Amino acid sequence: MLTIGTHMSIAKGLAKTAENVVWMGANTMQIFSRNPRGSNYKVYSKQEIEAFQKIRKENSFGALLAHAPYTMNLASGQERVYEFACTVIREDIARMDEIGMENLVFHPGSHTGIGIERGIENIIRGLDQAIMGKEKITVLLETMTGKGTEVGARFEELKAIRDGVKHPERIGICLDTCHVFAAGYDIVNDLEGVIKEFDRVLGIELLKAVHLNDSMMPFASHKDRHAAIGEGVIGMEALLAVMRHPLLKELPFYLETPLDDQGHKEEIRMLKEELGRKI
Ligand SMILES: [Zn+2]
Ligand SMILES: [Zn+2]
Repeated sequence: MLTIGTHMSIAKGLAKTAENVVWMGANTMQIFSRNPRGSNYKVYSKQEIEAFQKIRKENSFGALLAHAPYTMNLASGQERVYEFACTVIREDIARMDEIGMENLVFHPGSHTGIGIERGIENIIRGLDQAIMGKEKITVLLETMTGKGTEVGARFEELKAIRDGVKHPERIGICLDTCHVFAAGYDIVNDLEGVIKEFDRVLGIELLKAVHLNDSMMPFASHKDRHAAIGEGVIGMEALLAVMRHPLLKELPFYLETPLDDQGHKEEIRMLKEELGRKI
């Protein structure tokens, strides 16, 4: 079974969003765990959570993914930025676990000058005060492009974070096709080599989700600009090869392409047709 969905707005509530997933021909979704550029979040009523759970169950949704806000920087050396990030990750792991999301992904962060090692130490400390070890949810580190002082563009950096925490069993990886390509992993000409490298450094079993995006920016550019599938420099064939790969094909795929709901519906229809697979 193919598990595919897109990043969705939850402006109309959880249940309504789940209905929208069905309309889209999808069977999973990614949502922001709170306002992506601020600090606000909604408290969901018991009825709303139950209505949401009912729809996901009736429609056999695959693993669902929450995305932490972009303003959360756990690698920061600035006290106020760091304290804020610690609060957000702690609250959002608990909140997303409670509503039944399988995974929560976050950008490891930018060290903004304190150096990659200290950045990684901060991330580890931040995760340790947030993960209690009894959660069902898995926290995913996203592969990044390495723009500026960003942590997480190399598989080794993600490995160092996971190895450093008290509860590594609660940590997995989300591979973003646009980000890894821009970071210098050539999924167009050497997908097999990239997967082998991921497996060598991290272990392929840690890969829990794929962000399926084309890239507007060239290979190894360290720039993060998503393109619609087939409209960037990665291209349709390379992205289909990712989805067909025997070690990746059963993972959940999440589109983060710059399209509206109607556009995403069409993109999902096209991918299902190209792959000859159903949800
Ligand atoms: Zn992301
Ligand atoms: Zn992504």
